[in-house]
Amino acid sequence: MRITKRAAMFCLCLLLVVMMGPQKARADWFDPLTIHFLDVGQADCILIKAPNGQTMLIDGGDEHDADEIISYLKKEGISHLDIVVASHPHHDHIGSLDDVIRAFPVSVLYMPNLPYDTKYYHDLFRVINEKQIPVDRAKAGVNFKMGFSVKVEMLAPKGSYYKHINDYSVVIKIKHGKKNFLLMADAGAEEEKEILSRGGVKADVIKIGHHGANTGSSMEFLKKVKAKTAVISVGRNNPYQFPSKEVMYRLNNRKMTVYRTDQLGTVIATSNGKKIMFKTNVLH
Ligand SMILES: [Zn+2]
Repeated sequence: MRITKRAAMFCLCLLLVVMMGPQKARADWFDPLTIHFLDVGQADCILIKAPNGQTMLIDGGDEHDADEIISYLKKEGISHLDIVVASHPHHDHIGSLDDVIRAFPVSVLYMPNLPYDTKYYHDLFRVINEKQIPVDRAKAGVNFKMGFSVKVEMLAPKGSYYKHINDYSVVIKIKHGKKNFLLMADAGAEEEKEILSRGGVKADVIKIGHHGANTGSSMEFLKKVKAKTAVISVGRNNPYQFPSKEVMYRLNNRKMTVYRTDQLGTVIATSNGKKIMFKTNVLH
């Protein structure tokens, strides 16, 4: 049987549509990517909305943040979370994640390989098991696309043992066109060194590690990242006095623009692949 060129092309197109699914096949070249750094006080919660409609949630605030996060996501039109990342098992990152993933269908959840014997961790796993959410190990080298234009890459953790729990943090780089975001979770100095040895850290925007604590954001690291803009997710009048004077000094020294959730509320970065715009004091 002779297959004509046209028939071959038709089959190829059909295969592509079937492989990518109707949502992913939506052309997304010109739609923006938005990254929402939710003001959840002394905790982390980041929502990523890709141009093709896919969604990713990194962390779910501390205990008692669930109502606020769920209502924010609903107002943003979220009905499904394609990817959820539990960056590491500390309560200010997974404290409300159990209730959040109970409220939305989740396609896959990534977390580092670190069983942790706390109420929050067990609560999270109870929902994962109830809803039979597939769990994948988060580690350096994991990468996937969100539509045509957004590339997501995990830069860490690389090893399987770290002295500090924070250094198990999933560090994620998001590339949209020419623009890059580096999301550090609570990574500290040891993890920064590991990431530097791997390379590819250059970014336009960095979500500063560990709420601006002086456990990380070393000058050496900031110099390699070369970001002009920093976002710090941190609570008003927090007892740890985050962000630290030392980290703020380094950011100012590098003349970086700093967006702090304790001063500016929820911060939204919108990228068209060439430029990033920021919106603050977002009330929902
Ligand atoms: Zn934290």
